[in-house]
Amino acid sequence: MLLPTSIIAVLPGTWPAQSAPPPANANYTSLVDRSKIRNAPLNQATPNCPATDTYCYWTCTLCTRNDTDIIRCPNSLDWGLTLDDGPTSFTTSVLDYLDTQNVKVTFFVIGSNVYENPEILQRAFKAGHQIAVHTWSHTALTTQSTEVVIAELKYTSDAIKAAVNVTPKYMRPPFGDYDDRIRDIATQLGMKPTIWDLDSNDWMSADDPTFQLSWIAGNFNEWVSDPTLKRTGHISLEHDLYNQTAAQIPLVVPILLKANYSIKTVHNCVGDSSAYVEMWLSIQPAVAIDLII
Ligand SMILES: [Zn+2]
Repeated sequence: MLLPTSIIAVLPGTWPAQSAPPPANANYTSLVDRSKIRNAPLNQATPNCPATDTYCYWTCTLCTRNDTDIIRCPNSLDWGLTLDDGPTSFTTSVLDYLDTQNVKVTFFVIGSNVYENPEILQRAFKAGHQIAVHTWSHTALTTQSTEVVIAELKYTSDAIKAAVNVTPKYMRPPFGDYDDRIRDIATQLGMKPTIWDLDSNDWMSADDPTFQLSWIAGNFNEWVSDPTLKRTGHISLEHDLYNQTAAQIPLVVPILLKANYSIKTVHNCVGDSSAYVEMWLSIQPAVAIDLII
């Protein structure tokens, strides 16, 4: 049973050090059949682009696999708004705004930040947003051993389970850095690799002094008026890691709504009845939430 949110400082339990790749965990490693993981090379740094893209390495070629990867919302006028790298203190203002619009989005969260801010994750979950895995330490997964990739994903999944009592079925590789080895690990752990087809580039605002914040809403305005983007729905990438990028959400949501897009969680837009292993949560969410929070 979880403690009342008012007295939780950090996530209860024993967790790896924050913001560093976690150590291999034998219990986690045993969940994966290594003989069924495609043998893509371990990168020393990224990008490390081979002459031939044998292992569908997104970082170099934007390669995706239709049998495993979620790339966009299939139905035109569906929009999966995704926010990465939280939960942070800036997530709260995003949640305040989304509540006023009754809009549900998907948060790909960092395990270290879940440890730091479990009460913010609880609020996001309780509001009906989708919670998904974005690794423990935000490392480039193709540079990590299979054991560490497993630990990156499982510690984050378990931190989410400890905070909000659900097991997420969706994951996103940091920087979009994934190949067939990462796909196979995620899939064996019961997670669907989820990328994006439209990048707001808001992350550039963190260290590019020439980046103008108005370009973020500008990108959304261009996308909704581009006839070539009307054939399918989309999944866009933004971040609640920084104050200035979180502050863009109240600017971009009205652009999508005015263009008649339905903003949906990723699992909803791809027709998955639940974002979590615990299916019953999607059937009676009000009852379920009362039981666990
Ligand atoms: Zn990220």
